[in-house]
Amino acid sequence: MSSLGKGLTSASLGALLQARGFSVRLRKLDPYLNVDPGTMSPFEHGEVFVTDDGAETDLDLGHYERFTGVAAQSTDSVSSGRIYSTVLERERKGDYLGETIQVIPHVTNEIKKFLALHEDEVDFMLCEIGGTIGDIEGLPFFEAIRQFSQEKKTNSCIFVHLTLLPFLASSRELKTKPTQHSVKELRSIGISPDILVCRSEVPIPRKEKEKIALFCNVNEKNIIAANDLETIYEAPIAFFDEGLDDAVLQVLNLKSKKEPDLNIWNDVSSRYRSSEGSVKIAVVGKYTKLEDAYKSLSEALIHGGLANKTNVEVTWLESEEFEKSAQTKRLNKFDGILIPGGFGKRGTEGKIKVIKYAREKQIPFLGICLGMQLLVIEYARNCAGLKEASSEEFDEKSNSSEDHLIYHLSKWIKDQKVEIRSKVQNKGGTMRLGAYPAKIKKGTMAYSIYKKAIVSERHRHRFEVNVNYQKVLEDSGLTFSGFSQDGLLPEVVELSSHPFFLGVQFHPELKSKPFEPHPIFSNFIKTALEQTRLV
Ligand code: GLN
Repeated sequence: MSSLGKGLTSASLGALLQARGFSVRLRKLDPYLNVDPGTMSPFEHGEVFVTDDGAETDLDLGHYERFTGVAAQSTDSVSSGRIYSTVLERERKGDYLGETIQVIPHVTNEIKKFLALHEDEVDFMLCEIGGTIGDIEGLPFFEAIRQFSQEKKTNSCIFVHLTLLPFLASSRELKTKPTQHSVKELRSIGISPDILVCRSEVPIPRKEKEKIALFCNVNEKNIIAANDLETIYEAPIAFFDEGLDDAVLQVLNLKSKKEPDLNIWNDVSSRYRSSEGSVKIAVVGKYTKLEDAYKSLSEALIHGGLANKTNVEVTWLESEEFEKSAQTKRLNKFDGILIPGGFGKRGTEGKIKVIKYAREKQIPFLGICLGMQLLVIEYARNCAGLKEASSEEFDEKSNSSEDHLIYHLSKWIKDQKVEIRSKVQNKGGTMRLGAYPAKIKKGTMAYSIYKKAIVSERHRHRFEVNVNYQKVLEDSGLTFSGFSQDGLLPEVVELSSHPFFLGVQFHPELKSKPFEPHPIFSNFIKTALEQTRLV
């Protein structure tokens, strides 16, 4: 079932196979009918993870990337909605030559095609199916993986099933029945799991493992415990100790390519364990009730902490609460303030007040995407005399896009090709999406963070800071330190008279990894930490 840790289990297994010298790719198959997660509410579905090639995908792809370092691609995620729409489009074009279109074989064949994409490029392809065994939407996926493994000539497919072992505190018992039933359900659709990963709050005694093995017909060595951990980044080591990767190789009759090298994970774990003190960061946003809505961001902040061997205490604050300026005083107990990406007008005036406070009180501030756009609006209004400054996203009254400080971008260049978008297109697919290179100006804070002149970062937005306002803003002290390669789209802004006041149009959190913290986050946390020491 969801929230059990399928994504983390897959990601950890990927990392362990890499540690043994194998190349891996991870994929997510989601049974829901949305065509992609781009337009799903972050409240319900958590963050939209954007890939380099511009796909809006499930947040599990973020876990995969953070654990394996392999950049996710648009072909690594698919939903029932996407599969059905491909099948229906092909039917409309007459590709099936009048056949009757059915779930089996047409939908299942399309799923199998997805599973096989680029399969020869890596040693291991790990495909995770979302949802719960027995869900109606999931059935075509299970049928497809069953057929897929059956059709393989060699013994090259295995099934790993993640189950829950509930612990009854009153009788101090682990219950194996739900696992037995789940396996039975899986069997009824023709799939016998080779390995069971059993999620449980407490260690699983040998006796219970024997019982599960016997009743579920799985080798006892292949019953792997997944216990609760202090940090998700200890999962690869915990699974290694439980023998998950070993079990996978044994079932497939494969030898490890090398002695397992867990150095990066041991380093992450020792950084975590030796972290001292903490920095307090306030994140002021709109979906703060559900942390998953900012999953990559909260992970990137943790990575910034790991880089500085300190703990990061994040407090999520609702931006609307700051609409009354007296409220901003609440912020003085924080060592750093961050405004993440977001959409729509609600809460933006509160965020602008927060930015003003961080600027005036010299509190380290990082603005990401919408956060950068609001930083520029705040500066324009309060320091450059542009009292009416706003964004076309919340204020459509002015006639022409060109007048807005933050304007709707309808034309840009990607891979030497001009991309054109109109405001009236369907929701989804109307944004500047994916990785774009940016030029970083020497001598700026951005340059001292990146230590290089060209960087590549991921985008997901419709609006841009209007370059025509660069001069007036620079004359009043704001520095434009990064631009798109054609020099037309501002990518980074900063204030040299402040310890850390940085806005980025892209999402650096999407590229941060525990073993390779993003330099913007390590520097943001470093400056915040220095503030705690000043007091
Ligand atoms: N709403 C803004 C835009 O579309 C910012 C988007 C974001 O923060 N990801 O440009």
